[in-house]
Amino acid sequence: MRYAILSDIHGNLEALEASLERLNSEKIDAYISPGDIVGYGADPSGCIKIVRSLDPTASVAGNHDQAVVGSFDPAGFNEYAKAAVLWTRSVLSAAELEYLKSLPLVKEGKVFSVVHGSLEDPQEFNYILNRADAARSMRHMATPLLFVGHSHVPAIYGHEGSPKRIVNAGSVGQPRDGDPRASFVIYDDSTGDVSIVRVEYDIEKARKKIIDAGLPEFLGDRLRGGL
Ligand code: ZN
Repeated sequence: MRYAILSDIHGNLEALEASLERLNSEKIDAYISPGDIVGYGADPSGCIKIVRSLDPTASVAGNHDQAVVGSFDPAGFNEYAKAAVLWTRSVLSAAELEYLKSLPLVKEGKVFSVVHGSLEDPQEFNYILNRADAARSMRHMATPLLFVGHSHVPAIYGHEGSPKRIVNAGSVGQPRDGDPRASFVIYDDSTGDVSIVRVEYDIEKARKKIIDAGLPEFLGDRLRGGL
């Protein structure tokens, strides 16, 4: 099976569509969503609709998904993220909010597990940003492979002498590693290969939609630098 892992889409329809267009040529059998389908971008409904249509093998809740439906306190969010939470809540339908509310914090399979932030306290949405953070989650891994998102920086962590790997898929809709292209991962469970893929998309269109929607201009501008 070949999986596409699409994380931190954040309501960016242009980035999501460009990613799926690229995946058309990749013979993908199944999809995984490590969370934050919404928040920041101007098309939360469109992105929820597409993710649901992909019928993901695993779809877990991100902190923004939970903040929008009132399951996570966004007190620690910056002002831009808070504004996006309120705006997103106001434009989603009851059914869309219900979908976000239904997402579990962790999904455990036979070979891989999925969580948005980290495994030691999934509801705290801690970040895995270095080897020490990765080691903490590894202690809780019941599977050899863990897919995460949250940091918006793609990365692969291993541990010497251990078959365990943690793969951060990066962010489809708001990359923060200085590369503004959408980021996602392709995983082939027959070979174990994990590849990080970057795809160009219409950043100016996504930026304009954010500004036209009355969302903070900064959320549009940051897409240009991928920061
Ligand atoms: Zn995110």
